Amino acid sequence: MAFEGESGSFAGPPGMNVGSFPKDFDYQDEYDPEAAGGPSADNKPRILLMGLRRSGKSSIQKVVFHKMSPNETLFLESTSKIIRDDISNSSFVQFQIWDFPGQINFFDPTFDSDLIFGGCGALIFVIDAQTDFTPSLAILKETLKFVYAESHSCMSCEVFIHKVDGLSDDAKMEVNQQMYQTVIDDLEELGIKHLPVSFYLTSIYDHSIFEAFSKVVQKLIPQLSTLENLLNIFISNSGIEKAFLFDVVSKIYIATDSSPVDMQSYELCCDMIDVVIDISCIYGDEEEGDTSAFDQQSQSVIKLNNATILYLREVNKFLALVCILREDSYDRQGLIDYNFHCFRKGIHQVFELRNKMAALASSAAPNALPAAAADDEAAAANA
Ligand code: GDP
Repeated sequence: MAFEGESGSFAGPPGMNVGSFPKDFDYQDEYDPEAAGGPSADNKPRILLMGLRRSGKSSIQKVVFHKMSPNETLFLESTSKIIRDDISNSSFVQFQIWDFPGQINFFDPTFDSDLIFGGCGALIFVIDAQTDFTPSLAILKETLKFVYAESHSCMSCEVFIHKVDGLSDDAKMEVNQQMYQTVIDDLEELGIKHLPVSFYLTSIYDHSIFEAFSKVVQKLIPQLSTLENLLNIFISNSGIEKAFLFDVVSKIYIATDSSPVDMQSYELCCDMIDVVIDISCIYGDEEEGDTSAFDQQSQSVIKLNNATILYLREVNKFLALVCILREDSYDRQGLIDYNFHCFRKGIHQVFELRNKMAALASSAAPNALPAAAADDEAAAANA
């Protein structure tokens, strides 16, 4: 596969039809629940949402994955039992979220920690930044100690400093610094090393919660660096400034190129997805019982009044590429379109290859790699 450079010719091969992803692909086959000690019946890694009651766990889940508007969360009932939510049917992002009620005692002997933590991909601990967060930090300390002691330290630990919409910029920085320092001191006191903890300032009233979730989910995607490479190659050959690969339903970006992400660009791209979905739903064709108006053909170009262009192309039913570029770069639209086809094909190959390798691994073939798979691996490496 080769991308055409800006100086190269851009005529795409006639009849190029890249097609969509195989329906059965996902990105978590490497996770073996039995090996991980967890009895989960499927192969999806878990994202555990933990935190005190009323810290905002259910709201986060509803807003990010169920399209609930932030204001509606005011009427949510507080979580009183563990809620397991499978994020898989309508989205590329496939995992389980376990939403914990604040008052459960994880250290009760009857509490099955392997059931909960076994095979967990990430633990998100939500702390309400608008209230006294000392009790939350105490529970977080206990949780990290537990996670480390039970050898679940392979999972990533993420702290959402939540509801920061009520805080000034200075207060946000102060809270962030305070919590960070406390957690670092706690880990040191417990003698815990190699347990990376990340902090995010989040709110359901802006895009920060989507950005934070994006970063958490990206850590669960084994092919992330390949996706980033493909995006880098795509933008550098197409005169594009920034590109995001979005999970359309949740508006989580599962990968972006290596230039820094600024919040405004991300928000613009999220808004574009909303616009395209809304227009598609109102005016799109609903063919053969397919209720989703966003399909393989979906694409959109929006010109802003500051000589910037937003360019959206569907990658498959669940994924969309959204790019930001200058208006003059869009003069080479043919080149961009052609490179996009190459990009989509590359992504397709990456996941096809991963599926093949997973199938090989599960059939327990000894060391030999069939020639076709070896060829594919070399092709993906070249791409
Ligand atoms: P849970 O018990 O942890 O599941 O908490 P809920 O999701 O039920 O949220 C408790 C309250 O916090 C609700 O009234 C939400 O509207 C509110 N809330 C959640 N997230 C935010 C946020 O980002 N900012 C603000 N200001 N309020 C929030």
